[in-house]
Formats: sequence, C-alpha cells, structure tokens
Amino acid sequence: MNCLFCKIIDGSIPSTKVYSDEQCYAFADIAPQAPVHVLVVPRKHIASLLEITGEDPALVGHLHWVAAEIAREKGLTRGYRTVINTGEDGGQTVDHLHVHLLGGRSMAWPPG
Ligand code: 5GP
Ligand code: ZN
Repeated sequence: MNCLFCKIIDGSIPSTKVYSDEQCYAFADIAPQAPVHVLVVPRKHIASLLEITGEDPALVGHLHWVAAEIAREKGLTRGYRTVINTGEDGGQTVDHLHVHLLGGRSMAWPPG
C-alpha cells in the first residue's frame, strides 16, 4: 500500500520517534505548528475516523492516552490540543488516521 504513514511506521521513511508500542507509533511532525507537535498513529492502517469499525474504539482511545502520556512527559502542564482532521472538509492531507498533539503555546478558538 502506498501510504506515507505506513512507510514511516515500517521505517522505510525516516522519522523522529517520540513513542512506540504494539498498537501505535508517535513521531515529530515535519512541519511543526507549535513548540510541541507530535503525530500519534495506529500501526493498523485506518484511512480516517470515517473508516473506523466496531473493533476500533479502544484503539482510538489508546491514541489519546498515548497523547496524554507524551504531553505529561514533555511537561505540558498548562494543557495541550489534540486534533484529528477527517476527510477533505476536515483538512486531512494524509489518509492514515492520526492524532495531532499540539502544545507549548496558547491555542486560538475557533480553528480555521
Ligand atoms: P493532516 O493534514 O492529514 O491532518 O496532517 C498530516 C500531517 O503530517 C501534517 O501536519 C504534516 O506536516 C505531516 N507530515 C506530512 N508528511 C510528513 C513526513 O514525511 N514526515 C513527518 N514527520 N510528518 C509529515
Ligand atoms: Zn497507512
């Protein structure tokens, strides 16, 4: 499958690892939008939240737990933002489910 994040997970495209376990891999975003910008991706290829099945909710929860662990490890005690862009209108550009972890600065609302 010609998927950028599957290639990052299998190591054929290099990345800066932040966290890894049997269910997911987390790495630094190549174009950081905040002092901390990490992508948490499931090892299982799921194109987007629109494609999750009844088997996947625990995995989606796990991604958020991992984001919280990374936030704690990086000292984001003032908070952080997690974002999942879904589909064209959601602004998704890589079709492999991923949680953005953004922190280290104050975030604006609403998003663009
Ligand atoms: P999306 O727009 O799909 O929500 O997020 C895709 C993210 O992947 C973007 O923040 C983009 O900077 C990041 N990205 C795209 N290509 C690469 C890459 O080759 N390596 C890394 N580390 N991040 C990437
Ligand atoms: Zn993939």
